[in-house]
Amino acid sequence: MKLTFLGTGAGEGYPGFWCRCEHCTYARTHGGRNIRAYSAAVLDDTVLLDCGPTAFPNASRFGKDLTQAQVLLITHPHEDHVLPLQLMWRAADESTHALPYAERTQHGGARFTPIQDLTIYGNAFTEEALRRIWDTDTFQKNRMTFVRIQEGEAFSACGYRITPVRGHHGQPGFSHSYIIEKDGRCLLYALDSGRFDPDQQEILRQHVYHTVIMEGTYGLNSAGDENHMSLKKNLEWLQFFHYNHLCGEGFRFYLTHMSPHWCPPHDQYVDIAGKQGLEVAYDGLEIEI
Ligand SMILES: [Zn+2]
Ligand SMILES: [Zn+2]
Repeated sequence: MKLTFLGTGAGEGYPGFWCRCEHCTYARTHGGRNIRAYSAAVLDDTVLLDCGPTAFPNASRFGKDLTQAQVLLITHPHEDHVLPLQLMWRAADESTHALPYAERTQHGGARFTPIQDLTIYGNAFTEEALRRIWDTDTFQKNRMTFVRIQEGEAFSACGYRITPVRGHHGQPGFSHSYIIEKDGRCLLYALDSGRFDPDQQEILRQHVYHTVIMEGTYGLNSAGDENHMSLKKNLEWLQFFHYNHLCGEGFRFYLTHMSPHWCPPHDQYVDIAGKQGLEVAYDGLEIEI
């Protein structure tokens, strides 16, 4: 599996939209990997992991084509993780697609080329949020179906085996992480996961991982709260994987969803986290799992 990080920042942006603190100013001045858009990722051009406001613009910037994605796994319905507007540009009058380009341009439409059907997977909170704004007709027009996930219940999609794991973000079950397996390789994508309760740790223990991607939102702030992970918690989880012998060949642990006020700019954080065995992801980073 090949994964591209389309964004690695948390909700307030990196630099913070309205902030001039040391970290935000450093990011603004030095640019590059210190700038983080909203966290999202794409797997093999097929599976989208969240779809926040910057997923599509960043994909184009990194030379990624998301037009043929067939699966969208949503961790939770917060606005930095799903922007419904982007999905609304899928609708089109496909009967005009066979016309010569010059003639096609005489018709309206958000796209002139074919797409795949998109299956959106998410928890009850995500379903409620999307169904509040889209009726059945809208789902159909945009060639989308919604499937509600259940923690611990694996499903197959496009050759991937996916197991949702309940997180704690605001409340238990508001966010879900995903264990994704294909061709004998295994990835855990854990965003806004907060904590995993003992029954969910049981699910985590049933796999051997090659890559873990986990939110590191609170970074050096170990006080934090239950709604996000900090570096201290990330290290406890790293321990969990080692202690339970869950680390497969070439195991890597990446941090994403980083907030500017607790995670130092990439230039500095990469060493701080690196010394502890963690890697700091950045926008555009492509990894082989
Ligand atoms: Zn978030
Ligand atoms: Zn959130």
